[in-house]
Amino acid sequence: MNEKMRKNAITQIEQKVMPIPECGCWIWPDDELLNIDSHENTTERIIYDVYNGALSENQEISHTCHLSCCMNPKHLSVEIKKH
Ligand SMILES: [Zn+2]
Repeated sequence: MNEKMRKNAITQIEQKVMPIPECGCWIWPDDELLNIDSHENTTERIIYDVYNGALSENQEISHTCHLSCCMNPKHLSVEIKKH
């Protein structure tokens, strides 16, 4: 992801999330999608990439706050996919 895409993504993310001050969670509206060129990925993977760096194929996101709709990059952690 280049710098322009990253800035575009951050602008969209900041407009769409609903931060919850008590827990720090960023609630993502169900029906929202990030509009980013040439990025075939889930919203949480894009957000992780934007703030924390790219993921590899065998990694998946887990939510340390156990809220699957939370997109706070600090609440996203990476696990190796188990099959
Ligand atoms: Zn959270």
